[in-house]
Amino acid sequence: MTGGREGITIELGADWPELREAVGRLCADFGPAYWQACDRERRYPEAFVAALAEAGYLGILVPEAYGGSGLPLRAASVVLETIHASGCNAAACHAQMYIMGTLLRHGSEDQKRRWLPAIARGELRLQAFGVTEPQSGSDTLSLRTRARRKGGGWVVDGQKIWTSRALHSDLMLLLARTTPLEEVEKRTDGLSVFLVDLREARGRSVEIRPVRTMINHHTTQVFIDGLELPEDALIGEEGRGFRYILDGMNAERILIASECIGDARWFLDRACAYARERVVFDRPIGRNQGIQFPLARAYAETEAADLVVREACALFDAGRPCGPEANTAKLLAADASWHAGEAAMQTHGGFAFACEYDIERKWRETRLYRIAPVSTNLVLAYLAHKVLGLPKSY
Ligand SMILES: Cc1cc2nc3c(=O)[nH]c(=O)nc-3n(C[C@H](O)[C@H](O)[C@H](O)COP(=O)(O)OP(=O)(O)OC[C@H]3O[C@@H](n4cnc5c(N)ncnc54)[C@H](O)[C@@H]3O)c2cc1C
Repeated sequence: MTGGREGITIELGADWPELREAVGRLCADFGPAYWQACDRERRYPEAFVAALAEAGYLGILVPEAYGGSGLPLRAASVVLETIHASGCNAAACHAQMYIMGTLLRHGSEDQKRRWLPAIARGELRLQAFGVTEPQSGSDTLSLRTRARRKGGGWVVDGQKIWTSRALHSDLMLLLARTTPLEEVEKRTDGLSVFLVDLREARGRSVEIRPVRTMINHHTTQVFIDGLELPEDALIGEEGRGFRYILDGMNAERILIASECIGDARWFLDRACAYARERVVFDRPIGRNQGIQFPLARAYAETEAADLVVREACALFDAGRPCGPEANTAKLLAADASWHAGEAAMQTHGGFAFACEYDIERKWRETRLYRIAPVSTNLVLAYLAHKVLGLPKSY
């Protein structure tokens, strides 16, 4: 099928069938009891992440020249969708897929040779992405973490929040200001991206404190005090970091949207099975339109969102601009998974609250995606301004 954008082709149905089957088989080893225990104990799903890394899925986007599989973004999208549709959760490791792109597209040949093969082999984890700060929030350009030149390298001071997986990652991609806001022509200038080796810095110039949240997410606060970095920790050119990060953000939005599609399908499968079996007033509850319609609506929303995810993937993989599609995909998919989660909650009645049914856990987990990695309002503001040509509101 040819999509809404000239010249791109979108595959419908279960594309990448072998990949879907292989990932589904791996996920079958990590059933509800595993995820319930991780959630209860707020435990990092180490065995699951290790299994994904060993099978090569976390290096799926690393080009073959650097030891990865060199597959397109759509393949990564299928992997994450399948993980979530299986009842598992990729949040413990998904970031590697999109963070890696900044290094791949903007790193020097030396940097790529140094880091990418070990990442592809699963020996090194690049799971942490330090952008958000307590004061700046969604207004990334006003972030205050500062990197200054010192001798042949850099010294960094500042603070990040919501830096997920920083305690489980070897490397962190860090966005810091290298030229003060008052001295730049455009607010998007003067920010730079660094690759920080957390193994050396943790406990010295970098202190990482976990933030306990309503889901098992392993997110943290990162305090940076006099972190010394070598010159070659800088990715690409000084001052152009925001542009580099934006490239990666489209991939991030598409991949998170793929997880939402997986969540939505999981909710719908579980809710429909329950609605067929649960008998109240001498008939299955699924015979009531009050139960059917929210599920049918969530199904329709999921299918529509899935088409936009595929369109965004196709554009990204063709090297074409895809900001509006990536943002639309994220918006629609996060809404679809939330509505499917809500319908699944209501369908399960009181049993939705019983942890052994997994509905409440997935419901808490999928709620995140209307807030992170970018909140729904900020996506709407982007579409209003960039696509509809309305005055900028942010
Ligand atoms: C569990 C979790 C994991 C995360 N992981 C990471 C990570 O690994 N790395 C990282 O860098 N960040 C991470 N984040 C941060 C996440 O990207 C931010 O929380 C998100 O972008 C929103 O920023 P904020 O929380 O500061 O909200 P704020 O910016 O304070 O916004 C609060 C509310 O106000 C709305 N709002 C703000 N400005 C406007 C406006 N102009 N118009 C309309 N509405 C507006 C927002 O939409 C939102 O609903 C994570 C967050 C969470 C909760």
